[in-house]
Amino acid sequence: MRFNSHVDRLLAVTVGLVNGLTPGLDGGRQVLAPTGAALVREVEEAVRGAAYNPSPTRAQAEALLPFVEQARAVFEAADRGDTARAARLVNALLLDSEARAALDEFDGEYHLHFHGPDTTFARGWAAGIASALAMALGGNIYRRLGVCEAPACDRVYVDASKNSHKRFCSTRCQSRVKAAAHRARQ
Ligand SMILES: [Zn+2]
Repeated sequence: MRFNSHVDRLLAVTVGLVNGLTPGLDGGRQVLAPTGAALVREVEEAVRGAAYNPSPTRAQAEALLPFVEQARAVFEAADRGDTARAARLVNALLLDSEARAALDEFDGEYHLHFHGPDTTFARGWAAGIASALAMALGGNIYRRLGVCEAPACDRVYVDASKNSHKRFCSTRCQSRVKAAAHRARQ
């Protein structure tokens, strides 16, 4: 995996975790914080990859929650333009998760990856979340963190476009707002 695709994957997982685990509104629909088996299911869905399909325990899924809640606060601060607060929160996440960078060998090449202090599910992903947000805020101007602008929606997104035009969490929210504007004009 190239470094950028590693970071993009970590950011996509972070968005999935924040949107799946933190309560609020999703395109007019109320989102409750999942607990128990539902929480485990949401975590599994968010982290699943092409050749990666883990089954975390309930305790492991719950251990990830404080990091995901902190990640939401980072998106909210970044969305408001409060970069100083977002950076403070990310620095706290990096400390709490004990994220560390390491060169991993794959197919004869070395790739820069982020790991937790041990190989448990929660600690590994806590480090992944912290590192992804750090790379988004400090490492690459083309990955902006935002909160959906559509009414009755607070799901988060990462804008990877060069000219920063993303405003909504999904095409569903985008079409909802477009349709409302169209109706208002008539
Ligand atoms: Zn939305």
